[in-house]
Amino acid sequence: MARHIKKAAVIGSGIMGSGIAAHLANIGIPVLLLDIVPKDAQDEAVSGTTAVLERKKARNALAEGAVKQLHKQKPAPLARKENADLIEPGNLEDDLHRLEEADWIIEVVVENLEVKKKVFAQVEEYRKPGSLVTSNTSGISIEAMAEGRSEDFQRHFLGTHFFNPPRYLKLLEVIPTKHTDADVVQFMKRFGEDVLGKGVVLAKDTPNFIANRIGTFGLLVTVQEMLKGGYSVGEVDSVTGPALGRPKSATFRTLDVVGLDTFMHVAKNVYDQVDGAEQQVFDPPSFMKKMVEENRLGSKSGRGFYEKR
Ligand code: NAD
Repeated sequence: MARHIKKAAVIGSGIMGSGIAAHLANIGIPVLLLDIVPKDAQDEAVSGTTAVLERKKARNALAEGAVKQLHKQKPAPLARKENADLIEPGNLEDDLHRLEEADWIIEVVVENLEVKKKVFAQVEEYRKPGSLVTSNTSGISIEAMAEGRSEDFQRHFLGTHFFNPPRYLKLLEVIPTKHTDADVVQFMKRFGEDVLGKGVVLAKDTPNFIANRIGTFGLLVTVQEMLKGGYSVGEVDSVTGPALGRPKSATFRTLDVVGLDTFMHVAKNVYDQVDGAEQQVFDPPSFMKKMVEENRLGSKSGRGFYEKR
């Protein structure tokens, strides 16, 4: 049976979820973009006289805010500003039933196994049989996320790991499990290349897959050497950025774009699975932990290693 992606659903409207939704909209695929109901938009906080539509809008605040942000970000996630019309914001409490409309459901919530498992349990209740379900995890075990799900879910479940920003970075890691149907893997590889315009690499379901296993290691070794040598953030970025022909991908600029909280979770994916000297490398230094406590997460919180410009 020929498979078509006529509509997609993206769950999680943060940095990556909104960027992936924009990439799909740029291709012409309508997207339902869902997030949780923000605390301050919960029903109790909204006056009893508020009209239903307004209440719904308040409950969609995160996803709606993310769509507004897409117009402001640089480099532009939207190829044309009208493409945002293809993205319909919603929330996971009111709109879960609408997952049955989607041929492809992409999970893009925080990098935490328990949170992701809970989302997939909800997805299973509402998806239509045969629809594709994928995770954008940076390196949590794909098989572990699908534990307890039905056979149909597991046969159609795999990792699709986009890189930040999704419109521009060409790599897409596709990570099947031993339960994923072979034709689903082949479809995703072809779709990734021909429709999403990516260079697809099939990766094994190992902690942080390929690119992040290497990338996180390199970044943390760089930071450890910086601390030993007493170098500054600016010095490290000038050596690891423009001098290497990567003006926008220097060490700390990258961390600000990724989000330091997400980076710490990604380092932990490997830390929890290895031991000895390798484990030490994946233990981020205490100044980074302190920055997360202080909400200095990078662009998404307005300040990180650099102030948001
Ligand atoms: P983010 O912090 O920007 O966004 C996470 C979103 O998840 C938020 O909008 C939040 O409200 C939502 N969320 C939190 N708990 C939820 C729940 N219980 N149900 C539904 N939504 C919930 O994070 P991000 O950077 O977009 O990362 C999302 C995923 O993509 C993670 O798995 C991360 O590892 C992966 N990833 C991130 C990058 C990057 O550069 N930031 C790159 C590749 C992959």
